[in-house]
Amino acid sequence: MNYILPKIKRNGFNSEEVSAKIQSLIDKLTRDLELKKEEYLYILDNISNNDTEYLFNKAYEAKLPYYQNRVYLRGLVEISNYCKMGCKYCGINYKIKTIPRYRLLKDEIIKCCDTGYTLGYRTFVLQGGEDSFYSDEYLEELLKALKSKYNDIRITLSLGERSYESYKKLYDAGADRYLLRHETASRRLYEHLHASFMSFDNRRECLSNLKEIGYQVGAGFMVGSPTQNNKDLVEDLLYLKELSPHMVGIGPYLCHSDTELKGNLSGTLTETLIMVALVRLVLPKTLLPATTALGTLDKLGRENALKVGANVMMPNISPTESRELYEIYQDKICTGDTSIVCRGCIETRIKAFGHSIDLSVGDFIDIERNEKND
Ligand code: SF4
Repeated sequence: MNYILPKIKRNGFNSEEVSAKIQSLIDKLTRDLELKKEEYLYILDNISNNDTEYLFNKAYEAKLPYYQNRVYLRGLVEISNYCKMGCKYCGINYKIKTIPRYRLLKDEIIKCCDTGYTLGYRTFVLQGGEDSFYSDEYLEELLKALKSKYNDIRITLSLGERSYESYKKLYDAGADRYLLRHETASRRLYEHLHASFMSFDNRRECLSNLKEIGYQVGAGFMVGSPTQNNKDLVEDLLYLKELSPHMVGIGPYLCHSDTELKGNLSGTLTETLIMVALVRLVLPKTLLPATTALGTLDKLGRENALKVGANVMMPNISPTESRELYEIYQDKICTGDTSIVCRGCIETRIKAFGHSIDLSVGDFIDIERNEKND
């Protein structure tokens, strides 16, 4: 069954009057960095082709003062596809029986980072399902080993919901950043997309705990998920303004045929790019990945995201054998490539779209500036 409600118009043209109103709201957002709920909704309900171009140009211009046309590269290690959570859209949730499970041990993770370091990466993103195997002690040892081996790197963890104490221990052991997508800021939609034992409030609490501890924090959401409507997307913009994360990952919902949500339509490129662009205007300094999900949806999805404000890419440095088992969504790109091939491919793509790669640690701009002033 498909629950899709009226969405952003993808074709057609607005009357001059409607276009003028949308463009003046985009100007207001560019200037004030926020709009009222009904103003966001007016944009999403009425935006059409001629207005998206205006929005995309404004979003591209908004990143230039802070990041110019540089794209930070982060080496991504997918450490485990075991997960105890029940996100109904995800191809590795605990109910899925069709994939073999794997997890990488400390030495294997360090080896991936060694390869990444040789390729020039200075940020490593250790991402996985919520796998209880990785105790605090295990991760603390891993973080300390990596940080003592390389004193010029940043480590980002993306391992889901943990307690305040656990996040604190990992931070003290050397983790610098934490990615935890909020997935949707609408309670109704969150509850529709997740198992009943999962908690909308706990997710938010985790994000505020991470901020309080001192991590550079990444939130993020899916676009086009089943039953999502424009009001839900407005909630995401309002929540992100309030949380003010250092990073925001935005990807399309990609329907996976082995999940409970099979048979639904996936999100579209245009809708996702509109949300990337709006987030760039709301949070001009934030780090915005051009996500692999966008590259899976469309051959040039990531490059298009760079043109509407994105400034980060995460080439995969996981062992080639495990990549296709990390199947959060189907047909994920780059699963057969080696880390070296990914590195070359991404650089070529970035340059072809008028951007340049940046292999520095790529902190959030205000942190970068503070460190320079210390
Ligand atoms: S989205 Fe993340 S937390 Fe949810 S089931 Fe998939 S891997 Fe687990």
